[in-house]
Amino acid sequence: MPILKYFLSDLTYSEKVALIALGPVETFLLALLPVSGYVFFRYRRLPTRPMLFVVFVGSQFPDLVDKPLELARVVPWGRVGMHSLPFAIPVAVLVLMYARTTDRTHLGVGFVFAYTVHWLTDWTPKFLEGTIPPSIFWPFTTISKSPGAWWGGPGQIFLILWSIFSVILLGLVFVLLLKDISQRYGHRI
Ligand SMILES: [Zn+2]
Repeated sequence: MPILKYFLSDLTYSEKVALIALGPVETFLLALLPVSGYVFFRYRRLPTRPMLFVVFVGSQFPDLVDKPLELARVVPWGRVGMHSLPFAIPVAVLVLMYARTTDRTHLGVGFVFAYTVHWLTDWTPKFLEGTIPPSIFWPFTTISKSPGAWWGGPGQIFLILWSIFSVILLGLVFVLLLKDISQRYGHRI
């Protein structure tokens, strides 16, 4: 059991991180399971397609934005930006407000829940060590360059592939959002 090994063995910090690090798919499943459980027990059905979509995007969102920005050297590390509270909180509030004004609060909550799962799992090793990572307060803290996630460090092919995937997915989200705003408010965009 990785979690027992985490607590009971004498591993170094980076060995511990590698032991419990989650990839994109695992993070999505971790966010999806409670959402599916809630929907099933409350409504006796499976989550709708829009809910699956927002949970998927929410569970990946910080990496969809920050990893390509790391590649483009806009941010010092792929875990600052949308991984940091000064950006994450306003984004979460905006999403909830938009969902509420368009009568889809449940979708907004699904997105923010999945976003929170991603954020918490990324920082869990630090929190378990009893430390508050300075990255969560970026840009109000200075960040030293870090090797990045195990599945997508700088220069790794996965980071490039991930960035291409991010641009396509965020582009799709942007188009869907524009269409939605246009339909809701009757403006041609
Ligand atoms: Zn992340």
